[in-house]
Amino acid sequence: MTKILIVAEIKNGEIKKNTLELFSFAKSQGLESEAVLLGSDVSGQADVLAGQGASTVYIGDDASLEIYNTEQYTSLVIDALQQSQATQVWLTSSEMGRDLTPRVAARQGVGALSDVTQLEINVDEITAFRPCMATKAVQKCEFSKDGLRVISIRSGIFSAEETAPAPANTVTLSIPEGHSQLKVREVQVEESDEVELNEASIIVSAGRGVGGVEGCEFVRPLANELGAAFGASRAVCDAGWLPHKHQVGQTGTMVNPDFYFALGISGAIQHLAGMSGSKVIVAVNKDPDAPIFKVADYGIVGDLFKAVPVLREEVGKLKG
Ligand SMILES: Cc1cc2nc3c(=O)[nH]c(=O)nc-3n(C[C@H](O)[C@H](O)[C@H](O)COP(=O)(O)OP(=O)(O)OC[C@H]3O[C@@H](n4cnc5c(N)ncnc54)[C@H](O)[C@@H]3O)c2cc1C
Repeated sequence: MTKILIVAEIKNGEIKKNTLELFSFAKSQGLESEAVLLGSDVSGQADVLAGQGASTVYIGDDASLEIYNTEQYTSLVIDALQQSQATQVWLTSSEMGRDLTPRVAARQGVGALSDVTQLEINVDEITAFRPCMATKAVQKCEFSKDGLRVISIRSGIFSAEETAPAPANTVTLSIPEGHSQLKVREVQVEESDEVELNEASIIVSAGRGVGGVEGCEFVRPLANELGAAFGASRAVCDAGWLPHKHQVGQTGTMVNPDFYFALGISGAIQHLAGMSGSKVIVAVNKDPDAPIFKVADYGIVGDLFKAVPVLREEVGKLKG
């Protein structure tokens, strides 16, 4: 029987939305799911995963797991997998998921499908789709041999269902000691109140059309008022108007929000590669032939310096 082992991710002590999306999708397909929960002081989150449908939660809870360590985490996922006898392992396409996916697959001697944006599942027959060539093409992929399926899935592809916590059936994993050849001493996280791009359901992005740092600050309040993340094209980041962590696109962050506002962005293929999967795209550009309008659901041909105040006013009215 098909059984999915989902590798959960935690941030600030809570299960991340990208993990909830995987459980919701498993449930929508009528598939049995289990979870691996790794980190420091994370056991309390097992009930959240049980509420999402995890029939068993394999927990590795130890101070040594506070910072992601590729060797330790791989060993623990393999341990959980051996106990679970799951036929598939699902991970998210986060930094952690992208690192773990090939390692887990290699340790099990199977292939992996990474950064999938669409999945069709018939028992353990899987057809997965993923964009390639800067989204000019979509690859249709299938596993050529029987055996374990290891897949990483891009966030924002499925909806996350909110569920109440439930008592979890837990299994405690033993923490490998003295095994790791790798020691992560410190992770420096920039303190910020900003919504992160890959977690955001709304993104407001600025392009070169904003004209400079002042133009970015002219647009930013719209993001704040919408509770949105503030994105940018590479042109804006390369010019130093915003830090590179704001960059959306092929060499920036890949996003799939519910709403994406592209303000003064031409829609170069490398930018589209990172955002064209957004559910609703709103573009403001004074050039009616700008390529962004080919992917936009709503377009305003005009000056963003006139359009943004109107958008803010309308948002204000909706918020009352
Ligand atoms: C290998 C490689 C990787 C890349 N990776 C990325 C990536 O990850 N992300 C990314 O974004 N780019 C990436 N690029 C760069 C990409 O090719 C484009 O150069 C970049 O996206 C252009 O940014 P832009 O749309 O902001 O600027 P432009 O192309 O200069 O467009 C500015 C737009 O603003 C409009 N405009 C000007 N003034 C106004 C106004 N007042 N009101 C309304 N509209 C106005 C103009 O009509 C124009 O369409 C990459 C390029 C390469 C070669």
